[in-house]
Formats: sequence, structure tokens, C-alpha cells
Amino acid sequence: MACAFCGWSANDRYCPGCGAALQAARDANECVVVISFDVDGASGMINRDPGIEQRPSARSFGDYGPSVAVPHILALLVERAVPASFYVPGWIAEGNPSVVERIAAAGHEIGHHGYLHEPPASLSAEQEAEVLDRGSEILRGIVGERPTGYRSPSWELSADSLRLLRERGFRYDSSLMGGDAPYWAAEGLVELPIHWALDDYPYFVFAPTDGRRLMAAPEHVYAAWRDAFDELYSRGGVFTLTMHPYIIGRPGRLRMLDRLLDHIQRHPNVEFRRAVDLVGDFVGRYPQVGA
Ligand SMILES: [Zn+2]
Ligand SMILES: [Zn+2]
Repeated sequence: MACAFCGWSANDRYCPGCGAALQAARDANECVVVISFDVDGASGMINRDPGIEQRPSARSFGDYGPSVAVPHILALLVERAVPASFYVPGWIAEGNPSVVERIAAAGHEIGHHGYLHEPPASLSAEQEAEVLDRGSEILRGIVGERPTGYRSPSWELSADSLRLLRERGFRYDSSLMGGDAPYWAAEGLVELPIHWALDDYPYFVFAPTDGRRLMAAPEHVYAAWRDAFDELYSRGGVFTLTMHPYIIGRPGRLRMLDRLLDHIQRHPNVEFRRAVDLVGDFVGRYPQVGA
């Protein structure tokens, strides 16, 4: 069957060329699950407002992530035997090298997430290239290899991002919302799509000084994520969850994540994959013709 949108010829539920659903499969009953964490700590807040570096209360909100939450998260992943992908800004890695070492030593993927959490759309191409190289070099210095996966801070790619990533040998990006399974985003670069509904930030971040005054109960988020998983499972898609240690790692929320993992693990034909491994499978299965 040829995809009506991009012409890719594939017998599958999702088009590997553009991410479109090809069949309205209702009873596929299988799912690949990617559990991912963006270890932002205070980097995003400081990028938006450099003054926060000198404001201990605001800073501690983010610092809790790498210092307190990551060890709890790692313990939970061991208990559930779940491999995960962690995207770490260079600034966080510099300040917490042993945290990055611990994550990598547990077998999880370390991916790129900017230096001081700069949204690429806010940078010139030169600045963006510099941030990519700086972040990669810092991560390489700690874990011994350059990251091959990239997730843009704030999911704000620039018009140059995909080209810059490709030129630097990245294999995938995870910042676009164009599908429910991986697809080719550009020549030689796979996209692992994400969405705000499968992110802890919009539900949980209460920051009165930022004008954010809503906070969801874990039960509410559990229901939203469970329903999304159930539907993707019936369609045979990829469930990619994006979380931040300083947000999901708070008491009550981590227990909710444990319940969600339990719900998912009760289903047959579910596979937990690190993003880098899923992308490797994808490239093996759907080599980009003519690229
Ligand atoms: Zn297509
Ligand atoms: Zn982030």
C-alpha cells in the first residue's frame, strides 16, 4: 500500500515516510513504549530569567531534579526493569557529572538537550551550532561517547536544526508532533514524535511568578496517560512519555508513574525501548531509499 500523503510504499500501520496512520487498526494490541526524561533542573528557568541563578528558592525548584529525584527515578526503573532515555543539558551535566555517570551506568541512554536549555528557534544558526557542539563535547567527556539522539529544549526547533543535527551525525530528533510512531524527518534523520499531552510539564508545573497557577492531581494525569496508552496499544503505535525529574519526581507523582508502568506491563506485546534502540530498529526496517 502506498501512503496517500507521501507516496512511501509500506505495509504497516504508520507511514515511515511521514508518520501518517495508514490503517485505522483497532485491535493491533501491541505497543512500543519509550520512557524519557529531560533532566532540565534549573537550566530552563535560568535561560528564561538569568536572575534566577541568584534566587535560592526559585533555583531549588529545579535543582531538586538532578539531586533528589533522579536517584528515586533510577530505583523505580530498576524495580520495573524499564530502560529509558535521559536528555541532559550540558550545563546540568557539567554541574552534576556523577548523576550523568549513574544514569549511563544503569544502561539508560544519554541524549542531547542543549547547553543552558536554549530553544533553537531563539538562536542564530551559528549560535545553535555552537550549543550543539558544546553540549555533545560535555556529554562525551562524561560518558565517553557523543550523543546520537537530540531533543530540543522547549520543543522549539529552528529552520536550521534538522540540517545541523544531520551534519553532526545525530541519528534522530525528538521534538516534532507529526505522528504516533517514528518517521523520517529529513535525509538521514529519524523523528521520534512527542506531544504536550504526554509531557508532565503542562499538567503539573505550578509557578506563580511565571503566571502558572494550575496543578493537576496525579490521578488526573494517570487517567490521561493511561487512556493515551490504551488507544495507542489498540492501534499499534509508539507511546513516548516525556517527563522532567524535578516535576515527576515529587512524592505522589512518582507513585503515579509506577502505577502507570504497572498498567502498561500488564499488557502482552508491549516492548520498552530506549529511543536510540527503537530508532536503530526503524532504520534497519525502513532504510531511506535514495538518501
Ligand atoms: Zn507517508
Ligand atoms: Zn527541557
